[in-house]
Amino acid sequence: MWYRTYRPQTISELNLPASREALGRIRDGGSFSHAYLFAGPKGTGKTSSARILAKVLNCEKNEKFVKKVLTSTDHKAGHAFVEPCGVCPQCLAITKGNSFCVTELDAASNRGIDDIRALRERVYLAPSDGLVSVYIIDEVHMLTTEAFNALLKVLEEPPAHVVFVLATTELHKVPETIISRCVFVQFQRALPEHIVSALQNIMNVEHITAGESVLMDIAKRAEGSFRDAVKLLEQVAQGKTKIGVDDLKNSGGADSTVAKQLIDAVIKHDARAVSTVFQTAQHNDTNLSYVQKMVLAMAHEEMVRAVEHKMVEKSRVYQHILAMLNVAPDALLPFPHLPFELACLSLCLEGGGGERITEEEEEHEHGEKPREKSPTPTSTPTLASPSPTVEPTPKQTEEPLTGSLNFEVLQLNWPIVLKAIKQTNATVEALLRATRPMETNGSAVTIEVFYPFHKEQLEQEKHRHILEKVIRETCGVGKATLKFVLGKKKPKEPVVEKKEEDAKLVQAAEEVFAG
Ligand SMILES: [Zn+2]
Repeated sequence: MWYRTYRPQTISELNLPASREALGRIRDGGSFSHAYLFAGPKGTGKTSSARILAKVLNCEKNEKFVKKVLTSTDHKAGHAFVEPCGVCPQCLAITKGNSFCVTELDAASNRGIDDIRALRERVYLAPSDGLVSVYIIDEVHMLTTEAFNALLKVLEEPPAHVVFVLATTELHKVPETIISRCVFVQFQRALPEHIVSALQNIMNVEHITAGESVLMDIAKRAEGSFRDAVKLLEQVAQGKTKIGVDDLKNSGGADSTVAKQLIDAVIKHDARAVSTVFQTAQHNDTNLSYVQKMVLAMAHEEMVRAVEHKMVEKSRVYQHILAMLNVAPDALLPFPHLPFELACLSLCLEGGGGERITEEEEEHEHGEKPREKSPTPTSTPTLASPSPTVEPTPKQTEEPLTGSLNFEVLQLNWPIVLKAIKQTNATVEALLRATRPMETNGSAVTIEVFYPFHKEQLEQEKHRHILEKVIRETCGVGKATLKFVLGKKKPKEPVVEKKEEDAKLVQAAEEVFAG
């Protein structure tokens, strides 16, 4: 793994100027604090920096300076520290990850009071090896309130030989009392040019060449994460001495494999497979933002192809997928990509995937062997998975795009029409929610409106134009002409059905997550 091999080993090798300068100040100042808080997005070098700091404080070359800090009254070496040598026993042990001077705790899985109590007992023991014991607590925001309080007690009276490095991707979840006890270092997403220069260094060692534009493309795909950029470079560079634009385009990397698996699972309405893909992606630290982009790009490509071949059903399925999966990540959630995951799962459920899971689970609970998966008849058409090599052949039975608009098709697709309109004009969508399609006749569509004001608004040329366009695209017809009529009274909204549908979705999601 290149991202391990080429991890920066000294402060001056750190890729981000901000962290390089912050750690440079510790090195040049010849003194250190007992607690640091490194905050910033994943893959920006927080734990690498913490390990380098541990090396600086334990390297043989700094031994006499660090001893001076530990024994003098002003806690200063009176001399700058030097960069870790990388070859003394302490440096080597830290690089290999088996030094007794460095303890790494992942607060995501050790978040309770007992974990911190155990840590506290160790902290007050004299170091068995080296001069300074460095405790790295990763994802520190995951600690429970009690655990934070226990940690705070240690931070208030830290033993002289101990340095804490708390790392977090979500600073807003770290209590103010903790933050105020730490020297704060902000890690930023790397700029593409910083990533390009880091990649260039690796390629020099590996004797690989690549055009500037290729490296820039990799840097942009990595979205500010050195780790993702180096991973992608390694995939693309496999067995090559020169990387061209096409290599990058063709490889797509591991993320595109994940995207492909995901869209396959969605098309097959296989909720369990969707869940597995997400779990694996999380475990492998896959860039899910990029996966989502690729899934949308693949679905879009399939939709365009379907429209070109006048495959109405197929184009409709992919339009629906595009509308459903166009959701933004939520940084406040424990898994920011949960909305994307839920959207994928709800697409599976639409095809009856939810029921299938329940049946299988029941069988499993009763100790029966899960039966072979057989294709389940679904309400939404199931399609062959997208494949760039197999050109889809247009079905004879499918309606050509110029055909007349079927009322049932319009009714079925009405929620999709609304969703698609919401993307371009939220006002029109809001107005349409209080209407209902009444009838179609050839390309003419009559829509019942219940308030004169709504009718006026919807009849405006620009609004009518948007709606006609979306209906044409969603229902796969060449022409749609709208007519609005004023209805007698507002229809009751199908509240009960909606709630049942939601409950069904929540239940299915719970079952999948529990499994
Ligand atoms: Zn050393």
